[in-house]
Amino acid sequence: MTRLPKLVVFDLDYTLWPFWVDTHVDPPFHKGSDGAVRDRRGQTVRLYPEVRDVLERLQGLEVPVAAASRTGEIEGANQLLELFDLDRYFVHREIYPGSKVTHFERLQQKTGVVFSQMIFFDDEKRNILDVSKLGTEWSYLHSCPEWNESSNPKSGTGDICKGPSWALRSSPVDEPHLKHKTERKS
Ligand SMILES: [Mg+2]
Repeated sequence: MTRLPKLVVFDLDYTLWPFWVDTHVDPPFHKGSDGAVRDRRGQTVRLYPEVRDVLERLQGLEVPVAAASRTGEIEGANQLLELFDLDRYFVHREIYPGSKVTHFERLQQKTGVVFSQMIFFDDEKRNILDVSKLGTEWSYLHSCPEWNESSNPKSGTGDICKGPSWALRSSPVDEPHLKHKTERKS
């Protein structure tokens, strides 16, 4: 039988969207009549294209999802989750600066899920290193700041999540920023 995580935790910047919310864009954000989300300067901001499908898939599997971000732009990050209509997927949001160990300890307190039954997606090694010490499964998403919709769609991988203990698979995705690697904890 396939084992599913009890909680899936996503970073925000360069995990759900291709920018740092505190430096690359200019909050506050708003949604135009055309449905596009824009920042204060009118710059359109987008999610990575697979994000909605991944979150829908997890919801369909009844796997709860949380956000863990160390951005200082707390209000802007929350605003984006709401404007992108992603807030309904996240049972908890831990968004504030500092080591993600704190974010995960709070998530464990709030959900009762032990670290070893969580899986964490992040693009920064420092976060992966911190959180992996707790015993959480993780998947490292390679940052791809230059990524855009014209990037080579054939260069990605088909699995979004494939760790030694988890066997959660998504519909195939073909974007380079979702390349990942997982390693068994020592
Ligand atoms: Mg990030």
